[in-house]
Amino acid sequence: MPYFSQDDIAQIGTPPGPSPVGAIRISGANAFAILARACTGLDAALSLPVRRGVAQGEMRVRLAGAGTKRPERIVSCPVRVFLMPAPASYTREDVAEIHLPGSPAILRAALRTLVEAGARLAAAGEFTFRAFRNGRLALGQAEAVEELIRAENDAERRGALSRLGDCDLDATRRWRDTLMDIAARVEAALDFSEEELGPDVEADLAVLAAELAASACLVGDRAELEAGHRRLTLAGLTNAGKSSLFNRLLGEDAVIVSAVASTTRDRLVRRVCWDGVLVDLSDIPGYDPDGPGQGGEAAVRGLRLIGGEDLAIWVVDSSRALDERDARFAETLAGGVYIVMNKIDLPCLADAEQAAALLSHSEATVVGHAAVSAATGAGIDELRCDFAQMAAALRSGGGWNRRELLELTAARASCRKAAEELGLGGRLELAAEDLRHGVSSFSRMLGEGYAEEALGRIFSRFCIGK
Ligand code: GDP
Repeated sequence: MPYFSQDDIAQIGTPPGPSPVGAIRISGANAFAILARACTGLDAALSLPVRRGVAQGEMRVRLAGAGTKRPERIVSCPVRVFLMPAPASYTREDVAEIHLPGSPAILRAALRTLVEAGARLAAAGEFTFRAFRNGRLALGQAEAVEELIRAENDAERRGALSRLGDCDLDATRRWRDTLMDIAARVEAALDFSEEELGPDVEADLAVLAAELAASACLVGDRAELEAGHRRLTLAGLTNAGKSSLFNRLLGEDAVIVSAVASTTRDRLVRRVCWDGVLVDLSDIPGYDPDGPGQGGEAAVRGLRLIGGEDLAIWVVDSSRALDERDARFAETLAGGVYIVMNKIDLPCLADAEQAAALLSHSEATVVGHAAVSAATGAGIDELRCDFAQMAAALRSGGGWNRRELLELTAARASCRKAAEELGLGGRLELAAEDLRHGVSSFSRMLGEGYAEEALGRIFSRFCIGK
């Protein structure tokens, strides 16, 4: 996990491909010393104390050769360097941005020169991580930077910008402090059994719960949150009609549909735009626990492809009664699941309620259901509309991103459970535990109390060079 080091980090900051000017960023306590080693002509600008500004110099870079005819060459590159001494920089460390001719070969060679002079290549999102670590950005804002970079339309860009701007840390901090105070009073009553738990504890918890509930009109419930996905993956038993539904939804013959089980061996993804909302729709192999090897294995492999970013669309054949195979498939699902009962043109032997019952022992949350016929097209327009709405909801979480919203919902649930325990007259240990969980959720919303590994996982999804 490189993120927690104090190394000086460098990385190319411009998108891949040729452009007139390329930029390399370097950040860390020795950034300017490394720059002095790698460049000439910057002595005046880099004399201490370094001031914010621009300077011109040269950097010697080694360009790789090509065979015997073109040996390795050392060339001197003109550079323009923007110096941003700590703390007035993106990472709050000494930062330099080096502009040089944008050829990818030159940029790679210049990066090598900086590494030879003492820098380490920055991991994905490491600059933004430092901004977060050094208190320049809250975790939610750091994530908004990444969303901004990845935004594909105006709505997403606007959402990310507003999250970057008005990250409401004050409210979260206040909620956490209140909950911490309530938790401390419950713990005190636990430690000194003669001490009475005053009625004001319940009253304070009720006030906090009401405040959180008011914020919940922005948030919705957990099912709604789980539904906020852009990547929708059709999954289910073989022959349920996934490929037919995939084609119907896309309106083109994108997948081979056949009555022979398991024709779809790999994941197939199509990006579509419905009502101005981008959706990535995938079809994965069907699940057949009794089938000859391949089909089942491919499906299990496919299910593993359904990551946390995906919403599983469970396609069920409504013309046959649900059985053991459906139950076993249901057990493999987790996270948000949308149930689609297919083949409603045939006599109906199963409904969405029965399918949902099979999920009650899994880790899945049912976020919606529909009944359609991939063969006749019945219900398909409504289904498309539902999917587009779910994808759009993802980006409009009232100033919070998905991770924060999940924590906020968890905090609300903890408060509710604690209030119930207290209301039931006193299993104080249980209430205290719920309150502790609630405090942790708020802390994680603020980006505190994350294990190093979890933070590393969050930032490793970021772009290289940001
Ligand atoms: P997959 O294995 O889940 O991808 O299923 P396919 O899309 O290949 O469909 C399996 C069989 O069910 C094919 O014979 C399809 O024509 C048929 N099928 C799919 N959807 C429907 C439907 O809505 N109604 C009827 N009657 N047949 C369907």
